[in-house]
Parts: sequence; C-alpha cells; structure tokens
Amino acid sequence: MFGKRLEIFRLFGFPIRVDLSWLLILFMVTYSLASGYFPANHPGMPGSAYWAMAFVAAIGLFLSILFHELAHSLVGRHYRLPIDGITLFIFGGVAEMREEAESPRVEFLMSAVGPVASAALALLFFYFRHLTEQYEVNRALELIFYYLGFMNMILALFNLVPAFPLDGGRMFRSILWAVKKDFDWATRVAAKIGWGFGWLLIGYGAFTLAGGNSFGGLWYILIGFFLKQASSMSEQQVVLKKRLEKTKVADLMQRQFVQVDPEVTLEQLQRELAGREVYPQLPVVAAGRLVGFLPLGKLEGLSREHWLHGRVEQFTDRDFQKISIAPGESAWAALEAMKGGPWGQLFVVEGDRLLGVISANDLLSWVRAKSG
Ligand SMILES: [Zn+2]
Repeated sequence: MFGKRLEIFRLFGFPIRVDLSWLLILFMVTYSLASGYFPANHPGMPGSAYWAMAFVAAIGLFLSILFHELAHSLVGRHYRLPIDGITLFIFGGVAEMREEAESPRVEFLMSAVGPVASAALALLFFYFRHLTEQYEVNRALELIFYYLGFMNMILALFNLVPAFPLDGGRMFRSILWAVKKDFDWATRVAAKIGWGFGWLLIGYGAFTLAGGNSFGGLWYILIGFFLKQASSMSEQQVVLKKRLEKTKVADLMQRQFVQVDPEVTLEQLQRELAGREVYPQLPVVAAGRLVGFLPLGKLEGLSREHWLHGRVEQFTDRDFQKISIAPGESAWAALEAMKGGPWGQLFVVEGDRLLGVISANDLLSWVRAKSG
C-alpha cells in the first residue's frame, strides 16, 4: 500500500513513519490554509505570517491524526494484537495491525477508541478556542484552535460511517460478527458497504468537480477510490484466507525438487545445478534423511579456493526445523510461517523425512489459478 517510508520517531515503542505521499498532503493543507482560511478570517497580515500559522495548524492536524492512531494502537497492544507501527500518508494515518482481533468485542473497542479520541480532541480544542477568545489572547491562536477542533470533529464523524475499512465499518463488522458468529460473512457485508460508500464519494466528487470546485472534487474522488480499493482488498483477503485454511500443505507442495548430498564439493554442485530450477534454500539429504539446508545466498562471493575444495557440508545450516512444516498443516499456516521468516519457502517434513517443498510462489500461483 505504501511507497517509500521514513521512520521519524518512536512513540510508546511504536515506530511512527511517514509515507512520501504525506509530504504532498502536508504541503496542500498548508497551502490551502495560508491562501484561504487565515487571510479570510484574519486580514491584513503579511504573507509569511499566514504561512507560519498555516504550517502550525497543519502540523497540529497531523499530530491529531497521530493521536487517533495511537489510541487504536494502545488498545490493540492492550489486547496483545501485534501492531507494526503507525504510518501517516496522503489519506491520513493508519495503525498497522498484523492480525485481526480475536473477538468482536476487541475489534469493537479497538475501532471505537479512534473516533472517541478525535471527538475528545475536538472538544479540547474548542475549549481552548473559547479561552483564547474570552481572554483575547491572540487571534491567530484562536483560529488555529478552531480549525483543529473542527477537523477533529470531522475526523470523528467521517470515521464513524459504517463503511469498511473505516473505523465505523469495523465497528459495524464486529456487531455483525457478534450477532451471526461468522467473521467472513460479516467482513463481506461490511466491505460491500465500504465499496458502495467509496462509489458514493466518487459520485459526489464528480458532482463537485462539475460544479467548479476542482480541488474538493478531486479529493473526494481520490478518497472514494481508495476506500473502494481497500474494501475489496479486505474482502479478497478473507476469501483467500478461507481457501488456504481449507487446503493442506501436502496438497500444494512440490514433490519433485533438487536435493544435494553433503559430501558433494561446491564445484560438483555448481555443475549439477547448471540450468536447473532450484529453491534458494537447497535441501541437503544424506541416506534418505534431511540433514539441513544450503542457503545458496551463502555461496555468493566465495573464493576460487572454496569453490574447488569446499564441500556442501561446510555451508549447511543444520537447523532445518526452523524452515519446516508438517504435511497436515494448512496452506494458510504455511503462508503465515513464511511471512514471519526470511526464507520464502518451507520444507514439508515428517520427522527427518523430506516429503516436499513449498514456496510462497507455489501458494500464490495456486491461488491465482483458483481465482482466474
Ligand atoms: Zn481510526
């Protein structure tokens, strides 16, 4: 989903990253505030003052979004959901969860806390605005507080729309899930609404565009596309997960694969492998037993001396358990195991007997063939 990201700092242990697209939105928000909102409400100031106010307000907006995502992340952590961090990007922010919540209650709490956090911030900023106005502190500050109060209210309300994957859509899904006890069904329904809401925004954007407001119109269209895309993706993921859960590793593994004897010299190995398709972690098998694996990456840049006299044994990693899976496990479990490690492939073993090999590519081409 993201292009180049930059970690800017850590907050409560969560890495906070910005996607490059965020710089664009930071500029656009600052520009629109400096050229519209501030001059209109506080006339007679020099241009540089408007840019300074606009920049402070824009940063305040992104800190507010961060606060919203932090609320999600802290509740997630409380329920032991792995959170990879928070990323700010063109459409706001996202707390990256690696897993779905284990129960409807956790999903509901975790999603609801976001809009609640934004609503609380809105009230706080409106109160600050009231104070600055009452004591006539500073007109610019008053405008900044009003803007932040207003934007946080919009954030709270927009996120409450029951369109998956917005927070409201997640809350709605958790309710459906609790009522029908069917997570997949609940996801499909909530995702359909998200998809519909996406189209609604696109339609509204086109209407606004036709009315002459090109910036606002384009913005709605972009957000609409993003929502539509995100909702169909989560629906597909649920379908994919279901298919993979129902399929056993033994049904998808490759039974034909190149394996190598530990006694072989690297030179012989090179000759044997020439022109053959092999897995990057080559199984090392002696007397019918798996003894380890040879990560081919290890052989890169070896001296000529090594190539001539080195044997496979010397470069074999004997801990093959860490890249193994049992034939009866589900294909989903295999995918999860591959995601967690650096290998991209697994040995399918029973004890130390190697039955087959399965790679992320094998899984993906199977899924593609099924859905094509
Ligand atoms: Zn949220």
